[in-house]
Amino acid sequence: MSTTVPFVDLKRQYAQHREEFERALLDVCSSASFILGPDLNAFENEFANFIGVRHAVGVGNGTDALRLACIALGVGKGDEVLVPANTFIATAIAVHQVGATPIPVDIDPETYLMDLMDAERRITANTRAMIPVHLYGQAHDMDALTAFSSTHNLIVIEDACQAHGAAWKDRRAGSFGAANCFSFYPGKNMGAFGDGGMITTDDDDLAHQFRLMRNWGGTQKYLHEIIGGNSRLDTLHAAVLRVKLGFLDAWNGRRFRAACRYADGLAGLSEITVPTFDRDHPNRHVFHLFVIQHAKRDALAEHLNAQGIQCGIHYPVPIHLHAAFAHLGKNVGSCPVAEELADRILSLPMFPEITDREIDTVVEALRTFHA
Ligand SMILES: *Cc1c(COP(=O)(O)O)cnc(C)c1O
Repeated sequence: MSTTVPFVDLKRQYAQHREEFERALLDVCSSASFILGPDLNAFENEFANFIGVRHAVGVGNGTDALRLACIALGVGKGDEVLVPANTFIATAIAVHQVGATPIPVDIDPETYLMDLMDAERRITANTRAMIPVHLYGQAHDMDALTAFSSTHNLIVIEDACQAHGAAWKDRRAGSFGAANCFSFYPGKNMGAFGDGGMITTDDDDLAHQFRLMRNWGGTQKYLHEIIGGNSRLDTLHAAVLRVKLGFLDAWNGRRFRAACRYADGLAGLSEITVPTFDRDHPNRHVFHLFVIQHAKRDALAEHLNAQGIQCGIHYPVPIHLHAAFAHLGKNVGSCPVAEELADRILSLPMFPEITDREIDTVVEALRTFHA
């Protein structure tokens, strides 16, 4: 079956802004300033302004952003870090990479985000930090989260890898934690032409640490203050991302419009659970993904695929049930909400350029599914 509605189509965005992208890329090529070039510096400043923080430091990818944030904040061996049980595996892997232990926390059945009541039950004398994930593009209630973290004296590292431009009240995701992490993987709301990442912070010393850590421990050639590694955001990617930053709010607005059209089209279908979101606060959810629930999820996915409609599952296995994290010793039943939802969730096609007709095609296909 040929594709009638793609899950994501990155080619449309490229076609729409081809000249701007190509001019930006060619400028870097002719300057030959590929590593830590002027476009990186400019993009870091523009991104910091956009998020509303003092510093943004480009790194190789979102996973490294999380890993370096943990290291700079002193999270390591013996420390436990609360992470949501439903997230991309990288959130937990970064914690493991620094020698700390990720502690999967169950999720709220309505928002799909880390459930603070369950988080409270998982706190021990070793709990040092928490990594809330603004999953699917939805900003956490940062009033509640900040109150929770201060009560328990926890470091907050936001995983905003799916939430570029999302906001809680008048502040963007990525401006609340001690250090916060973004991914520019191509399919994210703001994607590079390859891998890329960013750490945001208000702390001058931390920002300096990140600049050292990404560049073998130095900001000047052959002078090394600390033992760092190599994890930089390429200038070519930064040049592309500068172009994209100018469109991000508009693109997120289109995602929101698409989400409203889905929600309207699916209203009244009692078997399908659509995401709850506040139409008066479009920034609160930037719809990286539009996730529905259905009791017969696999049959529904097959029904859509048979009509050429691509969909995804984010994520089919909760963190604690991956073979990779078997050593955490958590069994089925330890995060019941995340476990139940993993069998029910389905991500529908969602990207800024999706057309009304495509959305209607998906809605129609969902309406004609009878298990
Ligand atoms: C994409 C993603 C990451 C990892 O980012 P990469 O750039 O792919 O390393 C981490 N956390 C979440 C929630 C993500 O969606």
